[in-house]
Amino acid sequence: MALGIENNYRRIRHEIDETARYCRRDPDRIRLIAVSKRKSAELIQQALDGGARDFGENYIQEAVSKIDLIGKDTACWHFIGHLQSNKARFAVQYFDYIHTVDSLKLAREINKQAAKRDKVQKILIQINIGNEASKSGAGAEQAVELVNAVSQLDQIAVKGLMCMPPFFPDPENARTYFKQLNRLKEQVESSGIGNIDLTHLSMGMSNDFKVAIEEGSTMVRVGTSIFGERD
Ligand SMILES: *Cc1c(COP(=O)(O)O)cnc(C)c1O
Repeated sequence: MALGIENNYRRIRHEIDETARYCRRDPDRIRLIAVSKRKSAELIQQALDGGARDFGENYIQEAVSKIDLIGKDTACWHFIGHLQSNKARFAVQYFDYIHTVDSLKLAREINKQAAKRDKVQKILIQINIGNEASKSGAGAEQAVELVNAVSQLDQIAVKGLMCMPPFFPDPENARTYFKQLNRLKEQVESSGIGNIDLTHLSMGMSNDFKVAIEEGSTMVRVGTSIFGERD
């Protein structure tokens, strides 16, 4: 069992590489973010031993104590949970990427905190692609306007779009949402906003990362298939 997480990580990485080759994409352009929410620093260490260098966390307090243990510079840390403005300070202090920016208000707070640390914070704009009442994210119809406004902030670099489509047992059903996010990225890119570099599409989880890669994902966020079920 000691090798479980290391092996899981390597297996998922291999599946990503195979999927990329199958759809004629460069595997090196697809980052595997190991989602370690509710998993201990010890288990994160096992993933590191398996080669993981990107980790995703959802809860600020929990993440901060684990990152202090493991070391901020040991890995690239991605914040993928819902972020409240009053926690933006910690997100900026601890995370290399914040994937879940969905309002100008939150972006302004991140910008303010980043200015204090003399940091340019990399962020992604989260889009509620399925228009689900229960999910955060900006509406797709607001994307161009929001990216435009956020990209004016000096201490923020907009790096891409993120989504979390509705869950389907059959990942094929998620394909249409991944396609929509990719199309939205193209739309934003061709809208003439200066000073943005939308490299990333953060989409795909344990159940549907292969479909997401086929539709252009550059960051897949995989938890359960690496660390096992969460309590
Ligand atoms: C928990 C979580 C994941 C990982 O989900 P799994 O199904 O366990 O792979 C990915 N993205 C976000 C935003 C999450 O909250």
